[in-house]
Amino acid sequence: MNFLPTEEQRMAVEGFTRFLENELRPIVERYQPDKLIEKELMLEIFQKMLPYGMGGNGIIAEQYGGMGMPWLTYALMYEQLARISGDVAISLLIQQLGAYSLEVCTNTAMREKYLPRMVRAEIIACSGISEPGVGSNVAEVTCRAQRDGDHYIVTGEKTWISNGHYSDFCMVIVRTSSEGSGALSMILVDRAEHGYESRNIDKLGLNSTSTAQLFFDGVRVPAANMMIEPGSGLKNTMVLFEKARPMVGLTSVGIAQAALDKAVSYSKERRQHGKPIGGHQLIQGMLAEAATELDAARLLVYRAFNLIDHGVRSEVQSAMAKWYATEMAVNVTSKAVQIHGGNGITKDFGVELLFRNARMMPIPDGTTEIQKLIIGRTLTGINAFS
Ligand SMILES: Cc1cc2nc3c(=O)[nH]c(=O)nc-3n(C[C@H](O)[C@H](O)[C@H](O)COP(=O)(O)OP(=O)(O)OC[C@H]3O[C@@H](n4cnc5c(N)ncnc54)[C@H](O)[C@@H]3O)c2cc1C
Repeated sequence: MNFLPTEEQRMAVEGFTRFLENELRPIVERYQPDKLIEKELMLEIFQKMLPYGMGGNGIIAEQYGGMGMPWLTYALMYEQLARISGDVAISLLIQQLGAYSLEVCTNTAMREKYLPRMVRAEIIACSGISEPGVGSNVAEVTCRAQRDGDHYIVTGEKTWISNGHYSDFCMVIVRTSSEGSGALSMILVDRAEHGYESRNIDKLGLNSTSTAQLFFDGVRVPAANMMIEPGSGLKNTMVLFEKARPMVGLTSVGIAQAALDKAVSYSKERRQHGKPIGGHQLIQGMLAEAATELDAARLLVYRAFNLIDHGVRSEVQSAMAKWYATEMAVNVTSKAVQIHGGNGITKDFGVELLFRNARMMPIPDGTTEIQKLIIGRTLTGINAFS
């Protein structure tokens, strides 16, 4: 086991962090606390990050125009992005996993049509699973794809879709037959070619990135756009979750690190009872707890990505990383608000925004409760989902 980054990883993180501080931070600060970054600007940001492998191209194989980066190296850089902007990080998370889905789980025609434009950051992807009546139980998806000759007719609604309002295409989980988990499939619906509507959602946090409702009103999509073997939608979603969950956890690690940095620096400046508040033992206790919980979460996430790089199934480790890191960030950002006292609840010090952003993360890609059920199922062999 080696806890030290390689020289190559160290240099990659250093170069990218310099770019983030100099070029990205001034852009995202213009949009804080709650203004939506426009699609054109989000694409421009992705394009600027391409040379670092952080525009949707990083983990994609070189033969498809990507950089063939290991997941762990990508994760080390992604953590820095999440520290500067959780919003851009979430957009990139979806974009990168969208490109990855095109690389590993679709037919040649779909890959050739969409992947080159994804690795050049010319178009934006989204992934549509959740619906107004379907959240934790993905198997109950109601959005239908009805076969009609050499087309499918897609009808239904998706909600909470990250990048949804920006999206040029959506990889939609649809019901292709009536019964059971084998009834779900994934079809690519192109906004310009086939048409779907979207409505952006105003949220507690992460309002600089789009989360949207999508409406598919009898959309005619060629059967060739079925991305995977019809009926394997649920299995495919679970495999993608293995990568998505530690990445959501890592977004929380970045957000919590930003909050801890602010709390440490404020505790050294703010004076009460004749000394900096950081000199009071209870404040140091809060900082020490935050730093330790943050490191524990980081290590869980790194372990999950290390397993993924070694081709080892990581369902349980990814679930542990996701629930622990996302709940940790809620605690750490809350402590950062507390350490800032009254200033912490204003819009001027940035910690209230980090707290709101952190509070979002225990929900997507399987709530904390769902991650615990996955871990418990493995420990006991008993399925407690229903
Ligand atoms: C920021 C954000 C981004 C998102 N991005 C996407 C996206 O890109 N694509 C997409 O498809 N979806 C996305 N989602 C949706 C997300 O995946 C769902 O919100 C999530 O799966 C939970 O579903 P729900 O909101 O319907 O809650 P529900 O499933 O209704 O759950 C409500 C509560 O009940 C609990 N619960 C449910 N079942 C059980 C059980 N068996 N045992 C114990 N407790 C249970 C849950 O933990 C939760 O506390 C996003 C959500 C957020 C917040």
